Amino acid sequence: MNRWRDLYCGDLRPDDVGRSVAVAGWVGRRRDHGGLIFIDLRDHTGVLQLVVNPERSPEAAAAAHAIRSEFVVRASGEVVARAPDAVNTNIATGGVEVQVDELEVVARSEPLPFQLDDDNVEEPLRLRYRYLDLRRDRMQRNLRLSATVIRAIRDSMEEQGFIDIWTPTMTLGTPEGARDFLVPVRLQPGNFFALAQSPQLFKQTFMIGGLDRYYQIATCWRDEDLRADRQFEFRQLDLELAFPTREDVMDVLERVVVASFEALGRTPPSRPLPRLSYAEAMLRYGSDKPDTRFGLEIQDATDITRDSEFGVFKNAERVRFLVAPAVFSRAELQRLEEFAKEWGAKGLAYIVVEESGEVRSPIAKFLSADELAAFAAAPGSTVLFAADTQPMVERVLGALRSELGQRLGLIDQDRNDLLWVIDFPLFLPDEDTGNWTFVHHPFTSPLDGHEDLIERDPGGALSQHYDLIWNGWELGSGSIRIHRQDVQERVFRAMGMTDEEAQAKFGWFLEALQMGAPPHGGFALGIERFVALFAGEATLREIIAFPKTASGSDPLTGAPAPATQERLSELGIRLQTPPA
Ligand code: ASP
Repeated sequence: MNRWRDLYCGDLRPDDVGRSVAVAGWVGRRRDHGGLIFIDLRDHTGVLQLVVNPERSPEAAAAAHAIRSEFVVRASGEVVARAPDAVNTNIATGGVEVQVDELEVVARSEPLPFQLDDDNVEEPLRLRYRYLDLRRDRMQRNLRLSATVIRAIRDSMEEQGFIDIWTPTMTLGTPEGARDFLVPVRLQPGNFFALAQSPQLFKQTFMIGGLDRYYQIATCWRDEDLRADRQFEFRQLDLELAFPTREDVMDVLERVVVASFEALGRTPPSRPLPRLSYAEAMLRYGSDKPDTRFGLEIQDATDITRDSEFGVFKNAERVRFLVAPAVFSRAELQRLEEFAKEWGAKGLAYIVVEESGEVRSPIAKFLSADELAAFAAAPGSTVLFAADTQPMVERVLGALRSELGQRLGLIDQDRNDLLWVIDFPLFLPDEDTGNWTFVHHPFTSPLDGHEDLIERDPGGALSQHYDLIWNGWELGSGSIRIHRQDVQERVFRAMGMTDEEAQAKFGWFLEALQMGAPPHGGFALGIERFVALFAGEATLREIIAFPKTASGSDPLTGAPAPATQERLSELGIRLQTPPA
């Protein structure tokens, strides 16, 4: 290839025996065997064994004595077949080795903070020395897998006639339900850009601009608490198309999903993917991103409990239950109750049906024969109830269902369940203010025929919003948008925004909607979540090269960091709390 190497470490095969080659890479292990020195040389393609024989090359042997793990070396020599009992079937190059003539230390390494083959290194240490961590199989595999998926996505989008257009990062706030990161502007002290939470309004503007099919692998910024499936910055396959039906948008995504599975040589899900209404998802799974790989479905009992003798049931807006295929001890039930309380429940009523068929329950004595018949469960199970407002019952039982699915090992890990959740409500009450707020974002169109409900019954209006779910993870969201300025204004008003506020925030866009806005709709698919699911990783940090920790910092660079007084003054910023 060039003066450093002729081929990659992982390339050599028995066919190459007899060749003189130069190879370069990192030293994995070095073993001294009475004169002979064996070196595992590694690059991104694999591992190759070098043999340094002092009789063949005393200089190479001297150099070999001085090398340590993770030194970068270049070696040249002859490819030879290994003796039959020395063949290593664990590596692709295991039939051969290179007898070294020349060994050059290209770069030395300090002693390492952790061994690269140690699987139990703490994450902060891995992130602090990410460049070492990146050399390991796991990160190599995940980042390459990510690149394969992104390429499949791009190919599929181009094939489907979408064009890649860039949109600004620094913009006005776009409401996606998170806080904006603000960027001060030296030329205009006191004014701030927001880092785009998504390219939402720009992509809608592309449709008004006649571009018809737009896509982009867009970076988005959201100032939210970080979790396993959330980072401050992340990428989305962002797309928008003109004159679509909801089915058209979903079909575009399904093609992308199938192409990604195929690019990785995996069996794709069959199209079309199943569709589930929001109402059904909330009823059966207590979640708008249901993991359907296991049953344990929630059932409604409100019709039966309305006349209950048991006050908690009688007075609750909703009573629902699930039947766990397990007998829980009193201590376990207490722990489950604590869990339910963390999610907002006041308590957790239960009926245990022992293997013998005997019933253990503090509430059974208050229940009528009809109720008991409705809750009858097989021996060896436990009925768990939530009685509260509907949102609370959904939340508590949804969380319990996920928890029990995990704890009882009910999830079939070999399954890949992808599905659409559709027919979301247009608005839900804001828990803090009590006002109606958007479920997706305020640009989502009501379902056809539901426009009149915007004022009359905001809570009853359904929207043309759809989410794509994979094994209980929300991969992304999209919607058919409002393309009429009057409808857009009514939605802003229903959310408690005055016309002046709407003008100040979105005036430019309301104006654009008055100049020939075609019907349009789109979607955004979270790339990191998609890749993490393919990689079988539980956190996004495993598939991001340089992620932030839960506290929002980057252990490698030390960001974020204080700014100097000069920089702050230039930007017109005075800190309330001076840096420590
Ligand atoms: N902008 C939305 C989001 O980031 C996606 C969309 O509606 O297309 O979730």
